[in-house]
Amino acid sequence: MGQGVLTATRDQAAAAGAPGAGRCEDIELEQLARAVGTPAYVYSATHIRDQYRRLAAALAGAEHRIHYSVKANSSLAVLALLRDLGAGVDIVSGGELERALRAGYTGLDVVFSGVGKTEQELADALDAGVLLFNVESEAELRQLDRIARATERVAPVALRVNPEVTVDTPHPYTRTGERGMKFGIPYDEALDVAGRAVQMSGIALRGVDMHIGSQVTALDPYEEGMRRLLELVAALRDFGCRDLEYLDVGGGLAVTYENEEPTNPAAFAATVVPQAAASGLTLIVEPGRYLVGNAGVLLTRVLYRKRSGGREYVITDAGMNDLLRPSHYQAYHHISAAHPRGATATYDVVGPVCESGDFLALNRTMDAVSEGDLLVVHSAGAYGFVMASNYNSRPRPPEVLVEGDRYSIVRERETFADLVRHERVAPDWRRL
Ligand SMILES: *Cc1c(COP(=O)(O)O)cnc(C)c1O
Repeated sequence: MGQGVLTATRDQAAAAGAPGAGRCEDIELEQLARAVGTPAYVYSATHIRDQYRRLAAALAGAEHRIHYSVKANSSLAVLALLRDLGAGVDIVSGGELERALRAGYTGLDVVFSGVGKTEQELADALDAGVLLFNVESEAELRQLDRIARATERVAPVALRVNPEVTVDTPHPYTRTGERGMKFGIPYDEALDVAGRAVQMSGIALRGVDMHIGSQVTALDPYEEGMRRLLELVAALRDFGCRDLEYLDVGGGLAVTYENEEPTNPAAFAATVVPQAAASGLTLIVEPGRYLVGNAGVLLTRVLYRKRSGGREYVITDAGMNDLLRPSHYQAYHHISAAHPRGATATYDVVGPVCESGDFLALNRTMDAVSEGDLLVVHSAGAYGFVMASNYNSRPRPPEVLVEGDRYSIVRERETFADLVRHERVAPDWRRL
């Protein structure tokens, strides 16, 4: 099972400050688990900073902006940490705008993406003065134009086009840039839509944008997508658009979960920087997973062991409601014991949720474990807590930020009171 690769990967991760064998930075995970309880998400501040700095350094050859994709991990503390490094944000909802503003970002730090922005969200983002609306359809463009004109404003827009490139991501749900998907404006319609955009007095066309998918390990889809974006830029300039400023290539940069080659920032930069620099436009990159994926782990304790129908089960106190990726995307997360006992065994690692789809790993050869052992579920910093739910009326776990030998609970574990906070036992009937 590529143990050598995994070990090497974990070593690299540990060197970069990410949670490695039994520790996160200088904190012992068993001790931390005793202090904060399990399940718990733990993030390394140093790893996030290192990832950010590596990418920023690689992109230095072009005028560029890094807009962190908030949906990957929207913890206010993580947002504030990235803001201190100079990041902007890429948001996909009004809720994410609220988070960004609370974390200290200003409107000009914000790029607003998303295929279904509501009227209220568009109006609020205009009020906030966002840098760019990444518009995904002609209908959205008309709506935004109307809202902007009604308040005598001009909305800065980049057209998100579907570059219609073939992308190999681990799961179809994370592909977004192929022909016929719901995202973006179909490539062959982009010029027409741009033509209409320049006629709209509430719209200022400022750029073009793509986002081809997530956990994209290959670089050729970026190269191909970039080529198509620049073709569009050339056509727009021929057409008389003189105010283009931004070339947004989206996110999708990959990290290592099992033995995938992570996106090398220098190689990524070599693919996008020269053309961006030549275009005279400011390059925008929207990384999510790349910045936070391997900065986080989920700590969970073994509740029980059992054998059934020839399978060995490890039942943990974290389930699919805490970490959805294994069941939703059939995603691989490396799992290790905080204190390995030296042996290995093959298990189904499952949670307490009443669903057969509730698992963290199936048929996994890993550290042999006993009841009470602490397990470390790796690479859980992106699309982990943010996808957690209260299914089975399970309070969501805390989020803990680690830096050196200190930690902070940046989100408290939910309580049973939190679970019912917005409910009424007795309906307060009303009539319209
Ligand atoms: C999700 C998303 C991203 C970030 O994707 P990652 O794979 O986490 O880098 C960037 N841009 C847009 C528009 C997105 O929807």
